[in-house]
Amino acid sequence: MPDLKKADKEHFLAKVWKDPVWSKVISAGILVVIGTATTYFFGLWPTLKGWFWLVLSYLGATTRVPNWLFGLLIVSALVVLVGVGLVVFAVVSKAPNPEPDWKNYTSDNFVGLVWRWEYDSKNSIRGEHCYCPHCDFRIIPVVMRDWHVPESVSFECNNCGWRMGPIQNKLEYILQDVRLRVEHNIRKGTYKKY
Ligand SMILES: [Zn+2]
Repeated sequence: MPDLKKADKEHFLAKVWKDPVWSKVISAGILVVIGTATTYFFGLWPTLKGWFWLVLSYLGATTRVPNWLFGLLIVSALVVLVGVGLVVFAVVSKAPNPEPDWKNYTSDNFVGLVWRWEYDSKNSIRGEHCYCPHCDFRIIPVVMRDWHVPESVSFECNNCGWRMGPIQNKLEYILQDVRLRVEHNIRKGTYKKY
């Protein structure tokens, strides 16, 4: 007998399944298997129940504690267990998520200045302020705009007189650079050294 090719076999199975007689035979076979399994399961149940009563009667026979008290103890123990479980679950589910380590990273030195910032609820960097590298006094950047020269920024400390600039750059670009450096340090994990 020549070997059936895979396609031929699949074709044969499809044909058998669609055949009214064969499909009924197969369905009946499946039902018999399920029925046998179900009967087996329910047939086993009385045996399990028998074991249960056997264990219970053994416990009742060997203990001097009355059965009703023994039962009461079991019920009390179960109640306590359930109560403890509920309390543990409540504590664990309500425990706030610990803040990530990098949220403490809110200060660093960039472009010759000390910078401090915050994180908003979406973990975006905001409120970047610069401080004097000598005396830590807050510096308000001075932006110089004129139509015939590129925009520049100066940083001058009103406390100690330290001065940097003018730098030919836009303030928004400097702030953006600071944010990018902060993000980079967080991403690389290099912020931990500060
Ligand atoms: Zn200063």
